[in-house]
Amino acid sequence: MIKAIVFDLDNTLVDFMKMKRRSIEEAIPAMIDAGLKITHEEANRIIDEIYKEQGIEYQKVFDVLLQRVLNEVDYKILSAGIVAYRRAREAALIPYPHVYSTLNQLLKLGIKMGILSDAPAKEAWLRLAFLNFHHIFDAVVTFEDTKERKPSPAPFIKMLDKLKIKPEEGLMVGDWAERDIEGAKKIGMKTAFARYGDTFDTKYHYADYELSDISELIDIVTKENKL
Ligand SMILES: [Mg+2]
Repeated sequence: MIKAIVFDLDNTLVDFMKMKRRSIEEAIPAMIDAGLKITHEEANRIIDEIYKEQGIEYQKVFDVLLQRVLNEVDYKILSAGIVAYRRAREAALIPYPHVYSTLNQLLKLGIKMGILSDAPAKEAWLRLAFLNFHHIFDAVVTFEDTKERKPSPAPFIKMLDKLKIKPEEGLMVGDWAERDIEGAKKIGMKTAFARYGDTFDTKYHYADYELSDISELIDIVTKENKL
């Protein structure tokens, strides 16, 4: 019996990598237009390098870019980049196809829903509020809640506590096999691999189910719960 579904956020409910790519693609010409002397390719290369060093959630990537190129932060160029980035991000931050309709159907079936993200609390909540997801989910657990990342059992256990369910009553949905799927399996939850959001070309995931579209969750719940 599935009583709750727990979703990873980035690349499971929203196409985070596409949002990032599009925002950077808009920010670079805006900075060049504001006076930064660099080619688009070179700027892209340095930005990639900074994200690799600092993590994909790093919030000062353009500050560091300018520091590396100019040896200082030129605030005219920085602001041009940030504004272009934010405009593009708002346009590109959209859920995968069938996310809203699927969540809506799950609500009607009486399934509780949670979000379990390794993203920093503020960034995760901003994305949730922007998408109006903050009204839909019963529980949200981010990095700050346990200070541990998936596949550590701590964030999963915190989520089960918040949803007041046993592990076997929960289904974890995620795009990252080593974190989302392994972590959930370890504590006894059911699992579904979000193939549609897979950016790693994952060969093996050992999940109970594989989703090519999020709407397939409805069939899974119907079957598991013998509705
Ligand atoms: Mg993910």
